[in-house]
This record gives sequence, C-alpha cells and structure tokens, in this order.
Amino acid sequence: LVKLQIREGKQRKEDLARSSQGGEARYVRWNPNIDLSRPEDWSLDALFRHLKEKHGFEHVEETWPIPSGKFFMDPHLPDCLLVFPPGTNWWVEDEWYAAGAVILQDKASCFPAKVLMHGWRDGEGECLDATAAPGNKTSHLAALMGNRSTIWAFERSKGRFITLEKMLAKAGCNNVKVRNSDFLESNPRDEQFAKVTRILLDPSCSGSGIVNRLDYLVEAEVDESDRAERLEKLAAFQLQMIQHAFQCKSSLNAIPAARRIVYSTCSIHAEEDEQVVRAALQSSDAQAAGWKLAPRAEVLPAWSRRGRAEDLGGDETLAESVIRCLPDQDKTNGFFVACFVRNSSPILKSS
Ligand code: SAM
Repeated sequence: LVKLQIREGKQRKEDLARSSQGGEARYVRWNPNIDLSRPEDWSLDALFRHLKEKHGFEHVEETWPIPSGKFFMDPHLPDCLLVFPPGTNWWVEDEWYAAGAVILQDKASCFPAKVLMHGWRDGEGECLDATAAPGNKTSHLAALMGNRSTIWAFERSKGRFITLEKMLAKAGCNNVKVRNSDFLESNPRDEQFAKVTRILLDPSCSGSGIVNRLDYLVEAEVDESDRAERLEKLAAFQLQMIQHAFQCKSSLNAIPAARRIVYSTCSIHAEEDEQVVRAALQSSDAQAAGWKLAPRAEVLPAWSRRGRAEDLGGDETLAESVIRCLPDQDKTNGFFVACFVRNSSPILKSS
C-alpha cells in the first residue's frame, strides 16, 4: 500500500510539474493603480496595444485551447484578468510588469476580492485584510476601491510583512495602512476600525489546492493520522480567525459596522472549507450578531462549481452560497470562497 501511495505521489508530481508551467492557461491581472494621473498610458486598451505591438499578442474571444499568440479576457473577471496560453512569459523584462501595472495572479485567487467588493460604493466605509502577505489580494482590493478610502492590512510574520510592503509599493497602492501584527491580538472593536465594513480572511491553510507546491505533490505519502491532525489544527485556527472577525463592530455607537466577511482558502479539503464555515455559522458569535452566508447571487453566481452540501449539514442552499475550484478540472488552482453577511449596518462616510 505504501509503495502504491508513493507511486501515486510521483505520478501526481509529474502531472503537477506540467501544471506549474502554466497548466492550460497563464493568468495576468491588470492593475489600474499605477499612476492614475496618466490613465491614457495605463488603461486596459493601452495594455492591449502594448501586447500587440511589443509582444505580438492579439486579443480574441474566449477559446480553448488558447492559440499561440492570442489572449482573451476571463469571462468571470472580464474587467481585469487576461488569459494567455500555457508557457507564455512575455512579462520577463517587460516594462509594464516591472512597473507593477500587471500582476501574475491565478484566477481563483482573484475571486475573494471580487466577492468581498460586491455592491461596494465609494463612501461606504473601509476594508480590512486580516492576513495580507504577500499582498496579491490586498492590491486587488485596492484596485476595486479605486485606490481610495482605507484598507487595514495585517500580517504577523516579519519576513512576509517586508514582502507585503514591497509588493504594495510596486503595485501603487496608496490606500493601505499596514500592520506587522497578529490579527487575533488586535481589538476588532478598537475605534480605529470603526469604519470597517468589509473584511478579507485568507488565512494559512494546507495549500492542498496549489498545483505546484511540493508538499501537495507528495501528499499521498503522508501518514493519514498526521494529515488528519494537521487539518484539525488548521481548521481550529481558521475558525478562530472567523470568530474574531465576527466581533468587528463600531465602538463609537455600538452599531455593527462590519457587514461582509469573505473567508477563503487554497485548500480542497472540506475540513478547512465547508466544515469550518458550518462551525462558524453555528458559533454563538455568529448567532448573536446575525451572521449568515450571502446568497449565491452575491457570490460569483456564474461560477458553476459550488460547495459540498454533505459537509454543510446537507443544506443545499448553503452549498450553493459557496464556491469551490478543483485544480484538475477548473483551469485554476484548487480554492474555496465563502462570504458571511449581516444586515443592520449603517453606511459610514470614509475619511
Ligand atoms: N492573502 C494573501 C495574498 O493573496 O497574497 C495570502 C495570505 S496567506 C494564505 C496567509 C498569510 O497570513 C501568511 O502570510 C501568514 O503569515 C499570515 N497570517 C497567519 N495568521 C495570521 C494572523 N493571526 N494575523 C496576521 N497574519 C496572519
């Protein structure tokens, strides 16, 4: 049995090594935050022209497999995500890439910011990214906020915090207040967070959905009891993070300010995904403050792969509310996104 598992692990490694070179597509996110004073230079149209003139890439309608020399806009993220054939690497020594105007970001990892910002209006309030480094989702949030208002970005690791600061500077994010601290040690009711209406929680996870990670490649070789214990610890931590975010409310007037929390993982294990969401919904923090799952209509409704009802107490409606991605079937990394919402929130003017 052990030999069989090792052989499967090696096979998986070979399959995934191919995926790490791009799988079926390479994704590039256009970042509008660079030098907004010159939008004519950094617009999506200008990027299309640059791709054509400098690299010979032509913008076409969605088509699979993607022909060489062509790209299209992703149908789920049509305003920012460019899809190229596998093996593409035009960004090496490209001035747009060097300037931070395009960011290499997998498709599924663009979903959390997109879902969090559903219905966002200027003046609504502020956002908080509880686990920010290296900062791809923070910079995507900044882009969706038009680089205005404020994002509070927490990162507890010193080394990763330095990476975060560099990444945000390169991406031209002007609205982020970074904190090299543990979100669990922050006081979500602190006055400085009183205007936070939306929270992104993308905590550490097993990474089992990431196709080019070595520890995933050999997962078949890991002892089952070690795996279960590791997932249990991760799930306990992930639940703690959600419950902490559930407490984010205004200390000024005792009116709950936070009204939308996105929880995401790059794990395909239900123990870190649906089962954590279910435990969070059943917690007293959720019940006291009225947190529930946002309906499918607010959570990328066009994405067809939804959650596993069997891990959500058999509730099909809850399962419809959350998103799953599978690495070998969805042309992106394995991923999970859930969105908690509550009503009764005031519209707060941002500073
Ligand atoms: N959202 C990031 C992005 O898209 O670039 C990736 C986040 S990564 C999955 C999780 C990050 O959370 C790690 O950098 C980890 O150090 C940090 N982290 C874990 N627990 C934390 C906590 N309690 N407070 C703040 N940061 C934490």
